[in-house]
Amino acid sequence: MTFDFPCETFPLQARRAEACFAAAAARQAGLLVRRIQRDLAADAFAKADRSPVTVADFAAQAVVAALLGKAFPDEPLVAEEAATALRTADHAAVAARVAAYVRTVLPALDDEAVLGWIDRGAAPAEGRFWVLDPIDGTKGFLRGGQYAVAFALVEDGEVQVGALACPELALTGAAGCLTVAVRGAGAWLAALDAPTAWQRLRVSPETDPARARVLRSYENAHTNGAQIDAVTRALGSAAEPVRMDSQAKYAVLAAGGAEVYLRLPTADRPDYREKIWDQAAGALVVQEAGGTVTDLEGRPLDFGRGRRLEANRGVVATNGVLHAAVLDALRAVGAG
Ligand code: AMP
Ligand code: MG
Repeated sequence: MTFDFPCETFPLQARRAEACFAAAAARQAGLLVRRIQRDLAADAFAKADRSPVTVADFAAQAVVAALLGKAFPDEPLVAEEAATALRTADHAAVAARVAAYVRTVLPALDDEAVLGWIDRGAAPAEGRFWVLDPIDGTKGFLRGGQYAVAFALVEDGEVQVGALACPELALTGAAGCLTVAVRGAGAWLAALDAPTAWQRLRVSPETDPARARVLRSYENAHTNGAQIDAVTRALGSAAEPVRMDSQAKYAVLAAGGAEVYLRLPTADRPDYREKIWDQAAGALVVQEAGGTVTDLEGRPLDFGRGRRLEANRGVVATNGVLHAAVLDALRAVGAG
């Protein structure tokens, strides 16, 4: 496999080099992690915070970091994973498998170079930087659910470019999709395998809160399901919220497949602050499809506070027209 991408079909003129690169790199990583999954080579081990990480997470981060090093040398990368554990004797076999997979895309890299690229993700989140979740929704990836490679460019606290590769999301009819958004220039969708025909993403035009379809995390530990049920009832909707892993939820919302996505802190971690790589790309895709994304108080997400959204609590994303009704419902149930 080589790094190829049909940039001549790319629909966006604004920030064309950065947007085409972001889409191409997310796609390349998405194709690689899907292949690792199909090889059944993605066994997990636990990080210090007990969350899972796999060969595929590390390989995807190395590929995107190395491609960034070629395309935009010296630009900082803020990414979820670090190679620290891979450098220990316990994980030498995992490190070797990561490097072998990375070489299927970038054949010139030796094992040490692969670890070095993974560690490039430790840059400070300041000024202009790229932000990567190599596999968002690792639990979904392991379970056979949704997952996404999420890659974005942030400048002075605002996301300017966002790309999501969702290998298991069939928004185009083909299996797997790629979305890309540029601030002020729209959000677009193509098939992951052959991204040649691009269509503009537009949120749902639904104006009736009682008909709102609500998206939430699959994992109960990642969101407050009881409060989400209460908000849904306050909106007058009888439908069960749809459970889905990863920023695939933002892609579904941007494509008009739902009207609301809620991310509410759980009762045992009321002070949880979102990681920037979990929200940056997806939030811009929804905004550029005509939606609105804020925290639970209705404030914009501030990506200029480091690796976490320190100034925001929770996330509410909607098709825009329903945003005020959802914020009202959050306040009515004591969650806003
Ligand atoms: P989702 O698939 O939407 O549930 O989101 C997956 C992301 O949730 C992971 O990438 C984690 O960074 C993040 N996460 C982990 N723990 C929590 C938590 N307690 N609250 C909110 N998000 C979390
Ligand atoms: Mg994540």
